[in-house]
Amino acid sequence: MAASLLALSPEVGMISPRTRGRMVLRLRAEGIRDERVLDAMNRVPRHRFVAQALAGRAYEPVSLPIGYGQTISQPWTVARMMEVILEGRDIPQRVLEIGTGSAYQTAVLAELGAEVFSIERIGPLQEMAEALLGRLSYRQVHLHHGDGSGGWPEKAPFDAIVITAAVPCALAPLYRQLRAGGRLVMPVEEGIEQHLQVSHWDGSTAQVILLGTCHFVPLLAGTVAVASGECVG
Ligand code: SAH
Repeated sequence: MAASLLALSPEVGMISPRTRGRMVLRLRAEGIRDERVLDAMNRVPRHRFVAQALAGRAYEPVSLPIGYGQTISQPWTVARMMEVILEGRDIPQRVLEIGTGSAYQTAVLAELGAEVFSIERIGPLQEMAEALLGRLSYRQVHLHHGDGSGGWPEKAPFDAIVITAAVPCALAPLYRQLRAGGRLVMPVEEGIEQHLQVSHWDGSTAQVILLGTCHFVPLLAGTVAVASGECVG
């Protein structure tokens, strides 16, 4: 039933570090080159971010349901998004993430050494993320329940913004929350396709680089406050 599927994986699981190591080897074989990203993903226990029933699949190259119709992104997608915001520069100090979801990507960002500000519109997901990141002792994260479409202006400026849900257009106002030299990575909907893109913001204009097609859940307006009995799937 939904309630037991939503129970997150226990602290001591059957997932060995070797399984995680194999995921990292696969990411390397698939072209992920940034050792900082690979190291961070080698340290984050991804199986803890999915329901117990799915823990055995956590390191497979797939996205998985996390409840409320949402998904944890597949490892390659997380790695690629991290790689493009890091490419050719130091770890961004302050990062805004829109769409906390399972908080896996939040944890990878924190593991990289960034201070992370992350917004989630679905209350129960935000609460689970808060509890899990606390149990895993991630201190440099600030989670907020709300509609992240407008960013988090009170906490700006950021060195990078990561949007983990597909946006219908490039959300240009968010550039104003980036420092000059900052980067924004997001999936943008174009017709029936989505393209992952990274924008390099110089303080007045953005250079947009297309990274290929992708598949994300949509960015939605408003918030969801309470568990509604929706099931995982
Ligand atoms: N990186 C996350 C991705 C989760 S899916 C992970 O790997 O787990 C995208 C998330 O964005 C969902 O949890 C969804 O609820 C959230 N979301 C969608 N629209 C949003 C909005 N306007 N503001 C904040 N979060 C939003």
